[in-house]
Amino acid sequence: MTDSTPETVTLPSTAHRPVLKLLGWVVAAGAIWLSWPFVQPHLPTGIMAKVTAPFYAARLSMADAPVALPVPVAGVSFRQIANTYGAPRGSTRKHEGLDIFAKRGTPVLSATEGMVTRVGTNRLGGNVVWVLGPGGQRHYYAHLDTQADLSAGDRVAAGTELGTVGDTGNARGTPPHLHYGVYATGGAINPYPLLKEGAK
Ligand SMILES: [Zn+2]
Repeated sequence: MTDSTPETVTLPSTAHRPVLKLLGWVVAAGAIWLSWPFVQPHLPTGIMAKVTAPFYAARLSMADAPVALPVPVAGVSFRQIANTYGAPRGSTRKHEGLDIFAKRGTPVLSATEGMVTRVGTNRLGGNVVWVLGPGGQRHYYAHLDTQADLSAGDRVAAGTELGTVGDTGNARGTPPHLHYGVYATGGAINPYPLLKEGAK
């Protein structure tokens, strides 16, 4: 077999491989981008979640901020919530959110879809979860008794369990409740009108 024709025939196609590979990636990235609204109910996990996280964060930032939100505690209706946003807390602080009371252990559910940016603890909030939501708003869930098995970069849907109602942080000794805060670019906003709209 001295005939080398097969080699000369295959050469041109191998020369195009890097270009085709690049084209493949561009098409794949475009497909992910375009199909996003449709694949959303099936949250990516593991490596797919990590690879697509920057794209998803960009999409969230460009999306409209919600005009209505569900109550983020299972079984609690809007009418049970008092509008204590802005109420004095000590001499220097104001209440930058709402307190939603429920039995210890009641599931806390993400009010929006979004991306978890932090699962941790702090002095005032105790066990907390932060979620980046549509419009680039940051949703703060505090005083949790337990936190769900989530970490920064994980995607959640509206209704995904983030943890359970508790009294951690400076809520220790008070009736268990979720402190729920929403932060826009200018700072804290009152979630109450959004929950009211969500209850209609
Ligand atoms: Zn509070």
